[in-house]
Amino acid sequence: MRIRFWGTRGSIPKPGPTTVRYGGNTSCVEVRVDGTLIVLDCGTGAHELGQQIVAAQPGPMRGHLLITHTHWDHIQGFPFFAPLFVAGSEWDVYAPRQMGRTLAEILAGQMHRTYFPIPLGELAATIRYHELVEGVFDLEAVRVTTRYLNHPAPTLGYRLEADGVAVVYATDHEPHSRHHPDATGEGARVHREDARHIDFLTGADLVIHDSAYTLQEYPARLSWGHTPAEWAVDFAVAARARRLALFHHDPTRSDRAIDLLLAACRQRLPGKSGLEVFAAAEGQHLVVVRPGAAPPAVPVAASTAERAALLNKTTILVADDDTDVLAVIVETLEPEGYRVLTAGDGDAALQIARDERPDLVVLDWMMPHRDGLSVCRALRQEPDPKLAAVPVVLITGRADAQDTVAGFNAGVTDYLTKPFKPSHLVARLQSWLIRSQGG
Ligand SMILES: [Zn+2]
Ligand SMILES: [Zn+2]
Repeated sequence: MRIRFWGTRGSIPKPGPTTVRYGGNTSCVEVRVDGTLIVLDCGTGAHELGQQIVAAQPGPMRGHLLITHTHWDHIQGFPFFAPLFVAGSEWDVYAPRQMGRTLAEILAGQMHRTYFPIPLGELAATIRYHELVEGVFDLEAVRVTTRYLNHPAPTLGYRLEADGVAVVYATDHEPHSRHHPDATGEGARVHREDARHIDFLTGADLVIHDSAYTLQEYPARLSWGHTPAEWAVDFAVAARARRLALFHHDPTRSDRAIDLLLAACRQRLPGKSGLEVFAAAEGQHLVVVRPGAAPPAVPVAASTAERAALLNKTTILVADDDTDVLAVIVETLEPEGYRVLTAGDGDAALQIARDERPDLVVLDWMMPHRDGLSVCRALRQEPDPKLAAVPVVLITGRADAQDTVAGFNAGVTDYLTKPFKPSHLVARLQSWLIRSQGG
């Protein structure tokens, strides 16, 4: 299952210099399983997702849009989601059933001529509306389980299961119990509905969870419908989830403040929890696979079309678990006109490399699960000759001779030792691109 975050912010878009790394767009997450496309929420992040989908596949297409609830920050991108304007396309839109108004009426409301120039009925795609309660249904190869969340509007969480992995999207949720005395997660079960919430998250390979507040802020925001990040950790620990993405960042939370909150959450982890916690960042890709399983070798269908559409643009894949370093590299390379793909770990890097066939790969040496050397070795074994020969630049803090030899033995093309200047990076990468494209 491939995941990409297009909007991670809650409440209101917050672009600007203080939110560059984690992003300013509101909730939108892309999920792909083989040929199935699922979009979780349609906040302002959906604008860029829609642009990329249409660029990659100009003709009619099919997709599923799962909306948690119809607060602005989860539907504001809907009238700007380009695939809905493509004739012949088919979209199924799902959201919780509400009293008194249909889903179509609610979505038409924000597109009333008072607010927007194009009415809902004039969207060119065929759109089918589905109003949900708690239950289970299948979207092609993906099993979807819905569960009510605690929020000041009818809201559903979605648990997606396919290929032996489970991803839970649970945003805009407040714990039912205010009694939450410990960090082991057991205190989180005081209220029966909280116990059901933990069951909903149980064993998930990835939980994307509301983490709008800090524990310190929470007493002043009771009943606003959100979870303090520290308690999201407790729920994920109690549910024995593998990874937790802090999500729905408060609009007042700067990148630096998210870093601090993340550090507090990691400190809270009990010794042997096995849970990995990170803060969801706009643009971040993840590949969710079973523990110990090799990442799926078959590229998803859409990436073939994506490749064709972007063939004439030079693509650089950058993998680093340090989001600061990733941000600096992206901010350096994108203005140069490169298409930059990012990965937060080695497994994701390898899968994205297979799907997207980049022209150059930049890898951090030290990454969780699969380090840069291991990714490089795997690339050199690929049957695709382009990947087997792709220039690989390894970023490392180590500069001694033994490590350098180890890197070259693994097939590394070049090293860049930290700290390095952005201009240095650009120059070095350009030289490898010119060499590989010329030869
Ligand atoms: Zn929200
Ligand atoms: Zn909400």
